[in-house]
Amino acid sequence: LAMNFRGPYQIRPDRNRPMPEIEHPYDAIVRVTRSLVCGSDLHLYHGLVPDTRVGMTFGHEFTGIVEEIGSGVQNLEVGDHVLVPFNIACGTCPFCKQELYGNCHEANSEATAVGGFFGYAHTGGGYDGGQAEYVRVPYADVSPIKIPEGMDIEDAVLLTDVVPTGYQAAEQAGIQKGDTVVVFGAGPIGIMAARCAWFFGAGRVIIIDHIDYRLEFAKKYSYCEAYNFKEMNDPVVFVKKLTDWYGADVCIDAVGCEAVGHGLQDITGRMLLQAGSGTALHWAVNSLKKGGILSIIGVYGPPWNLAPIGSIMNKGITVRANQASVKRLLPKLIDHVMSGRLNPKGIISHRIPLEEVSDAYRMFSKKLDNIIKPLLIPPR
Ligand code: NAD
Ligand code: ZN
Ligand code: ZN
Repeated sequence: LAMNFRGPYQIRPDRNRPMPEIEHPYDAIVRVTRSLVCGSDLHLYHGLVPDTRVGMTFGHEFTGIVEEIGSGVQNLEVGDHVLVPFNIACGTCPFCKQELYGNCHEANSEATAVGGFFGYAHTGGGYDGGQAEYVRVPYADVSPIKIPEGMDIEDAVLLTDVVPTGYQAAEQAGIQKGDTVVVFGAGPIGIMAARCAWFFGAGRVIIIDHIDYRLEFAKKYSYCEAYNFKEMNDPVVFVKKLTDWYGADVCIDAVGCEAVGHGLQDITGRMLLQAGSGTALHWAVNSLKKGGILSIIGVYGPPWNLAPIGSIMNKGITVRANQASVKRLLPKLIDHVMSGRLNPKGIISHRIPLEEVSDAYRMFSKKLDNIIKPLLIPPR
């Protein structure tokens, strides 16, 4: 059983999918125990990522039990219960050596500008993902790790993406003590970024979205202020007012490319807000103070080149962006989870059988039933 992409907005469970096989000595086959649907999967679902081929299985956030290993695999044994970072990384190329595991040069032969990812179209290397019963894990010695003893499986599965990604969003933002941090997007990634901003000494954390139940959740989970942009005339003016008209020290874009516009105009009356127009990105740049830092963690597929470069240049803004480097951050984040400083599983709102994967995507895309983060449970 595996989720199967049939085209934008069309997802089906495939009950006849053949078992994946070892294709290379460094592969492992993993029987999935839990997987998650991510906002990044929604970009695929909405048809915003090039070369998303019919028949593909998505899913880059999963845990599982090692079922089989290739002859070259040394760090894993059959039966190990592992968490598998969403980046596929060779561990030896110049970028992996710099711990840029989200930018591996070897894991993606399809498009050298993009790293390798499970279940992320041929843009991400063409690997099938873990919203399935079984998945092939390449370079199995490099990224997967045994789930630490005593760790809840629901915490473990969130360490494959959401926790490191939210953390990296705050880390790369270069937050200084007392800074005002504005996070655009109150999905799992924005909520985790807002939560982690406090680790770096933020003085004030503000999250902006248009979905009230998410804003309410963010207030409690991330201890931040939360505002609905539908209740503002202009989000940029709103942030400026909150910051003595200087602008925020740091803005985090936790939205990425979007399938829907929000029907608002920017201050010049220009319709910035068409689908895929980078609304949050523009709001973030314009809300920053001069010399501020923009951290982009929301995903823009390679064709989305939307940067408002005039404002960036004239305000002297530093832009920091990347795919999260999960393996680099895991040791620290495991410690945060085991010591109780972070409670990742608190963001899981729905536990859904893998057979109902189409419903999970529909609900998550439309933000129905107060959904924050859906967990998929494979049979047995
Ligand atoms: P999500 O869809 O659950 O959340 C996105 C939120 O943004 C929604 O609540 C939506 O209402 C809100 N939003 C939409 N337009 C907005 C705007 N103009 N201003 C403010 N908020 C707006 O998704 P998620 O799982 O939280 O993921 C968020 C982003 O992070 C996605 O782009 C995803 O691809 C990306 N991501 C990046 C990485 C990485 O390594 N860089 C990893 C995982 C996810
Ligand atoms: Zn993800
Ligand atoms: Zn590499």
